[in-house]
Amino acid sequence: SFSGTETDVVIIGAGPVGLFQVFELGLQGIKAVVIDSLPHIGGQCRELYPQKPIFDIPALPQINALELIDNLAQQASPFDPEYLLDNRVVAIKRLEQDKSLEHKFLLITDKGKHIRAKAVIIAAGGGSFEPVKLKVPGVEPLVDKQVFYRIKDLKQHQDKDLVILGGGDSAFDWALELQKVANSVTLIHRSSKYRAAQSSVQLVENLCSKLKMQLLTGQVTELITENNTLKQLRVSGKDGVTRRIELDQLLVFFGLSPKLSLLKDWGLELHHNQIKVNTETFETSQPGIYAVGDINWYPGKQKLILSGFHEAALAAFAVKSALTEGKRVPLLYTTTSPIAHQRLGVS
Ligand code: FAD
Repeated sequence: SFSGTETDVVIIGAGPVGLFQVFELGLQGIKAVVIDSLPHIGGQCRELYPQKPIFDIPALPQINALELIDNLAQQASPFDPEYLLDNRVVAIKRLEQDKSLEHKFLLITDKGKHIRAKAVIIAAGGGSFEPVKLKVPGVEPLVDKQVFYRIKDLKQHQDKDLVILGGGDSAFDWALELQKVANSVTLIHRSSKYRAAQSSVQLVENLCSKLKMQLLTGQVTELITENNTLKQLRVSGKDGVTRRIELDQLLVFFGLSPKLSLLKDWGLELHHNQIKVNTETFETSQPGIYAVGDINWYPGKQKLILSGFHEAALAAFAVKSALTEGKRVPLLYTTTSPIAHQRLGVS
């Protein structure tokens, strides 16, 4: 007996293409679980340019990236996908032992979740987003104890003396949020040029002038611990002065960078850092594993959302055909097909 989740298809990646893939599979009557290492859906659109307008989505002359993601999620919602967020897929295994097994693939995440599926669609974009790490000796053993790259629960930081590192929106937004619950907040950035929204910088500066927060320019050069507990930071300031700062917790917001390292372990034929696919089916070199969006490669590939949408449609036809013993899959017009209407829940 299997105690994890079972589904028709696992989609790795909840970027724009993964989300549209849910819709295209749904039209074919196929259920999906979508896994993403980020705690929210949206991929690059949300992570890298949420408020920027996009001008090349067909029939939407201009749409903000975040709005596009909301629309895609809404469009997929009739098919009731399960989103497994904050989970990075670390292994895809083919269950070879039993040839008659319908759920041929076992996926395992870094949080130890097990999901079985009949097919896998990789929509992993530029790779799984991971926080950029603080590079100072001795950080590793303190992570999730006193050093954090993500805020899970504000309560964990209540009444603590916090030092926040970073100069972008997440550093400033969290500094403002945490200032309300922490005992003290010191924000440190390597320069006085901030990437955060001007309005947040202004709010932080106002709080500093009321002595409710501190803003420093400098770089952490050493973590000073006592009995494996972090007590102080050594910070070398831009003014040439080295300071020691006492703290309970260190929160690091250096941004996220995509990691592709895992691809190499999945036994897929690659073209540089992209997965080779057949453009008829979007299947990879491994039968039953497909790839769509920025992660795939074929002659003429362009990393555009538009291309990913087309790829998702053809992949859904191919998956449907594979799951129905190679039967030809009829084209369904969403305007007129009663089957499509039934699946969409419209009359
Ligand atoms: P992504 O958006 O990269 O999403 C992939 C998701 O997969 C991520 O959320 C990642 O965390 C997740 N993931 C990866 N590996 C794993 C794993 N092992 N386990 C769990 N989750 C995993 N395109 C346009 O068409 N028009 C534009 O105007 C445009 N402007 C852009 C502007 C900027 C600044 C940038 C950076 C890109 C722009 N793009 C634009 C490109 C567009 O954003 C990408 O083509 C698109 O996001 C690709 O979508 P995707 O779903 O394939 O991948």
